[in-house]
Amino acid sequence: MSPHLVPLKPALYADCSCPKCGQGGPEPLGTVFPGVHVLGEYRCRACGYAFYRDLPVGFAVDNAVSIGKEDGSLHDADGAESWVTTPLMEGYHHPSGREWKIERKVYRACKDIVLLNTLDFLYGHVLLKLWNAQYYLDHHRDKGLVLILPRSFEWLVPEGTAEVWLVDQRLGEAHGWYTCIDRFVQQRLKEYDTVSLGKGYAHPDKSLVDINRFCGVQPFPMEQFLERPKQVAFIWREDRLWFRSPFAKLAWRASNKLGLKPLVHKWFVADQERLVRATWKKIKHALPDAEAMIVGLGRPSTGHGAMEDLRRERMDKETELEWCRAYARCQVVIGVHGSNMLLPTALAAGCIEVLPHDRFGNMVQDIAVRYHDLMQLFLYRFVDEFAPPATVARHAIGMFRDFKVYYRDNKVNVP
Ligand SMILES: [Zn+2]
Repeated sequence: MSPHLVPLKPALYADCSCPKCGQGGPEPLGTVFPGVHVLGEYRCRACGYAFYRDLPVGFAVDNAVSIGKEDGSLHDADGAESWVTTPLMEGYHHPSGREWKIERKVYRACKDIVLLNTLDFLYGHVLLKLWNAQYYLDHHRDKGLVLILPRSFEWLVPEGTAEVWLVDQRLGEAHGWYTCIDRFVQQRLKEYDTVSLGKGYAHPDKSLVDINRFCGVQPFPMEQFLERPKQVAFIWREDRLWFRSPFAKLAWRASNKLGLKPLVHKWFVADQERLVRATWKKIKHALPDAEAMIVGLGRPSTGHGAMEDLRRERMDKETELEWCRAYARCQVVIGVHGSNMLLPTALAAGCIEVLPHDRFGNMVQDIAVRYHDLMQLFLYRFVDEFAPPATVARHAIGMFRDFKVYYRDNKVNVP
């Protein structure tokens, strides 16, 4: 069995130990699919303790988390992240009878499948798990790939997928123990001869991801960096901001805590826009033939004209694709750290990221790094969270002006 698969049927994974007495090889009893997690149900052959074990997929690959079936207690020997275990336990103790609509689409009927569960409460997590699909399509051609997917991601289903099970659920509602999802999955599982879970790693090697297979858009070809029209995109989000100073961030946080967000949020968003426009002004001054756009969730402005404004207040498939095509025209995308940077960096040649201090522990997790060589350091740049427009602009201008030398030194004049 491949280390990137977890067997489910005919024999359930049992390479685990009793969380009570430590005895290995418990008796497998079944599985539960409550949503984000996939759990195996076991009974210890030594002490009889019955437990659910979080199967090693998604964010659970490294942590043997178990829940005692009778005493309801959490066994967390490795100290899993609390953002994983807290909602899991919450859900376990308060299962939801809410009925989500789940639609099954069969493109190719298969009896032997890899089941990849991409459900998650964060946009970036779903996308990262979904990118694992390519590995299973290419390395397990004898099996059909079945995706459990939030419906809003259907537009990214790669060619060759055998089935999708689309869950009509907002990501914010993904945490929870939903009996309707388990019921749906258990009914389907009966139809197959063999079932393995895809591990769905949280950090797949993005340089191996062929983004065109997911969104149907070819990424910017690095070798045409200088030939193509100079294009920059500012990646826009309003729920995490680029601040001009520590004081501005402090004031924003304090006003949020005091419940003043509805009153002041607009001002900080407007200030972020001033930073973006000031940056663009400096880039444009140095590179008059460059063009820029603003892309992301937000209200498009009217009347400025200096930049193409592709912001939208609502998402749909057409908008997503329009944005993907826009990223793919860019040598450089500029934005604040977060999952908002995943698709832009998967499609653009390079990026400049404003990295908040409290996100250092997540550095580069949101960048779909496309290169294996030194061009990584040249094309992916990180600046301080209070970096002024002049600093960001200097990097962008440098990337255009210095590209020729770096490309020649690292891509051409190498054996
Ligand atoms: Zn035991």
